[in-house]
Formats: sequence, C-alpha cells, structure tokens
Amino acid sequence: MRTVRRKLIVVAVPAALFTVSLHAATSWFGLPAPQALSDPHRAVIDVSRAAVAPAKVPAGEAGFAELRGERIQRDVATIVDFSKQSFKEGNRVWGRVTGFPSAKATIDWSAQQFKAAGLQRVEVQEYAAGADTAMWWATDWEAKVLADAAYGAGSEDIVLKTAVPTSGSMMAAPVTAPLVFVGAITDDKLPDVDVKGKIAVQHLKPSRGAFSERTRTVDRAKALTERGAVAILNVVEQTGNMHTRDFGNCGAPCFNIGTADGAFLESAIARAAAAKAPPVRVQLKLSAQRLTGLKGHNAIGIVPGKSDENIVVNAHADGWYDAAGDNADGLAVLVALARHFALPANKPDRTLVFVASGGHHSTGLNGPANVVKMNEALLKNSVLVVNLEHIAQYEIVAGEWKLSGREQPMNFGVDNSAPYLLDLGKRAMERYGFNLNPTFTTSVAGDLGGYAPLGVARLQAIHSGPMYHASGDVLETISVPGLERAARFYAYLVSEAAKAPRTSINPAKSSSGSASALAAP
Ligand SMILES: [Zn+2]
Repeated sequence: MRTVRRKLIVVAVPAALFTVSLHAATSWFGLPAPQALSDPHRAVIDVSRAAVAPAKVPAGEAGFAELRGERIQRDVATIVDFSKQSFKEGNRVWGRVTGFPSAKATIDWSAQQFKAAGLQRVEVQEYAAGADTAMWWATDWEAKVLADAAYGAGSEDIVLKTAVPTSGSMMAAPVTAPLVFVGAITDDKLPDVDVKGKIAVQHLKPSRGAFSERTRTVDRAKALTERGAVAILNVVEQTGNMHTRDFGNCGAPCFNIGTADGAFLESAIARAAAAKAPPVRVQLKLSAQRLTGLKGHNAIGIVPGKSDENIVVNAHADGWYDAAGDNADGLAVLVALARHFALPANKPDRTLVFVASGGHHSTGLNGPANVVKMNEALLKNSVLVVNLEHIAQYEIVAGEWKLSGREQPMNFGVDNSAPYLLDLGKRAMERYGFNLNPTFTTSVAGDLGGYAPLGVARLQAIHSGPMYHASGDVLETISVPGLERAARFYAYLVSEAAKAPRTSINPAKSSSGSASALAAP
C-alpha cells in the first residue's frame, strides 16, 4: 500500500519541479525551470485594484435593471462556465468551439434566455459545414525539450506546457531536431544561419493581441520552411505563461510557446552555445486531423416592433479558452438587450431579430452566413445589422501588463459611413462614456462578414486586445461598469436606429455597390 502511494506521488509531480528541487544549482545551466501553465481561469495580470469609472446613467434610465453591470456579469460567468466544463472534460483544445458540445450548450442557453425574456419565434437552428470544407483539429501534442548531460548534472527533459500547435500543422511522425534561434519577427531579415533539418525558434512581442502579428509571423515561418526548417516555434512574449492561438499554415508544423517557457528555451539555446555544449533539441509530437461533417448552431428570437422592418442584433457565442472578452461579454450584453426590449415599456419601433451565432472560430461553420440563408423571409426587410463583439475588457497597458483604469478602446465601424449612423454613434458614445476610438471607420471585421448578403448597413464596436485568443481571456479581465456602458450604449443606439428613416440608415449610393440596390429611395 505504501509503495503504491509513493509511486503515485512520483507520477504526479511534474518533471520540471522535481528537477529543480534536487538540482536547482546545476541542471540546465542553472536556469530556473519554466513555470506551469498560468491558471487558465484566473487573470495573468493584477486585477485586484481595477478602478474604472461607473457607468453614466442618464436621467430616466436608472430603472433599466436588466442593463446593470452586475446583472450582466453573472451571465458572462455562466457563459464562461461552458468553457470551463470543456476544460474539465480534459479537452486539449477547450472553449466554446462550434462543432463541439460546449458551443451547442451555449447556444441552447442563449435560446433559453431569449424565451425567458419573452422573445417570440425562438429557435435553435442547426446547419452543416460546407461539403468542401474541413476543420483542422489537434487532439493531442507535446513539445519536449531534451536534456543532455552537458547541460548540468540532473538536467531532465522538460515538457513545455504552453506549446500549442497552430492551425494547419500536420505531423506523420514525431520530429526530434536541434533548435536554432532566428531572431525576432521584427528584424529586417532572417539571419544567415543554417536552419535545414532544424527547429527554428522565432520571437514576437505583440503590442496588442498575437493577432496583430499574424502576417509577419506567418510570412517569416514560411520563409524558414522554404530554407528547410522542419518545424517552427513562435515564442509569443506577453506575460505569464499562456496558451496563445492565432497563426496558421506556416508551411512546416508550427507551435506557439508562452512567455516563461519561451524565455527558458531561448536562454537554454544561448547557454548551450556559450558552453559549447551540444545544441538544445526538442521532440515534437502532434495528432491532428481535418474534421468534416461538423454541425453548427445559431439561436434566434424576435421582439416584434411597430413595423415589419428589422434590425438584426448579433453576438457570436463561440470562443477559444474561457473566451470572456471574445465573446462572453458580447453575448451577455445581447441577452441583456433582449430582456430590455422585450419589456412592453421599451417596445422598439422596428422589429428586432436577436441572434446568438455560432462558428466564428470554426472553419466552414460561419453562423451569420447560415442565419442569412435560413431566414430569408424574416430578414428580407432588414435595415441594419448591429454586432456585439469584444466590448468590455479592461485596457491592459502594452508592455507594462497593468490596467489603465478604463476599458480597452474599441474601433467603431459603420460599413456604409451613413452620416446618421456616425452621428448616432458619437451621441451614444458621449451619452454613456463608451470607450470608442474617436475616429470612426468603415471596417466591420469580425462577425459581420456573414451578413454582407443582406446589403444593408452594418456597425459594431470591437477591439483585439492582448488577451485575444489566449488562455488569459478570463472573467476577471472583464469590466463590470464596462458591460453596463456597452449595454446602455447599444440599447440607446438600437432604440434610436429603430425610429430613424430607412434612407438615413441606408442612404442611396451614387456609385454602384451592393447596398445601393436595396437602399429605399
Ligand atoms: Zn470575436
């Protein structure tokens, strides 16, 4: 019995910790072993002194209890719990991923909230992935740094807990190769070093989310592949020791490595070179496949207005990791708005179509595109689509990893630049102190793409901060007053737009464009 227990303990202690406790001074050139993965349900920054201003509540609007930040935060927590459940079930890739049960559960919950609020024609609509699309999916992987006696007595192999394969990576068999450091993605050019048959390690330090460095990272990875690298490790320097997604189709198999793991790796490469020891080697394993036949789901419900013209209000329900800021905040505000407009006192002039959409992050399963296809009769009288996406995360000061004391500034985009909508956005921003960048644009990147076939105005506020697509995107990084600011901003904006003449929202275009045909004279 005693022997059994002792064995279990040995198995449970991570190899890295074991090594450090016995040989801290000598193993791995004396480098501190990398930490474990940062707790993926807690903030990797200090949020204990978050002090953002309370939401501005204009006279007459204090009674909108359904729009209060604390109420909405409870729903953000519930939505994040669907991700936590997926983590608990042991999925290496977790979150609310369309095509998998956690996303379906989130959509079912959204439909239940719509029903409970009193929305009509509430449905969960199922759709299939396109026949010619497949979704790359990694089920298991490992990046193990291999020890060598020359690195110091007691050096043992170290599994990098933050390693995440990037989309499109495939490996028929494990790869073991020496590492070669090839500098930062911001360097003018690749160094003149031999990468053939080696695993290239490149460094990036995104000032916003890793997303902001997609092009440079992937282009450089492709160039390294062409030079013969057998795999690429992208060290993503942010803070803590997080998983980070993003990047894809690098050519050779590509893995992202978190900050602390990356620092260890880069130091070990340098120390081995300085000590003229054999180069550090890594063993990479990956089981990945291309999934077909996946199903996605959207939840839809309406608040009938005084006319049969529609405004669509959308938020995507899916996300990677806990996905609090991408997009539990948007979905929770969507539900709050559904509750708000379903109250008889707030009956809108136009009909509102609420959509909790799937498939934002899953190949071939775009929710909005399927909403448009499956609800032609309902949506043919649409005049505007409003998208709620990434709207209440604290601002994290770039490089300092501290909170600034407000929410992440958002880009406000109105795709048709209708002066009425731009002015409405400005008025609503000032009225509620919603933190929009002052210059509005026509960009509607995000979930609005699928609504393009409707040919009507689309607008949104959105950001992609440092936690975007990272395991640090957790509940604690969401501003409670920010949720309320967003909810009040959008309640006002939608209510005003529901009263505005159709021609103000969709002015006739002089040049030819998809909107011109549908803009009412
Ligand atoms: Zn998003």
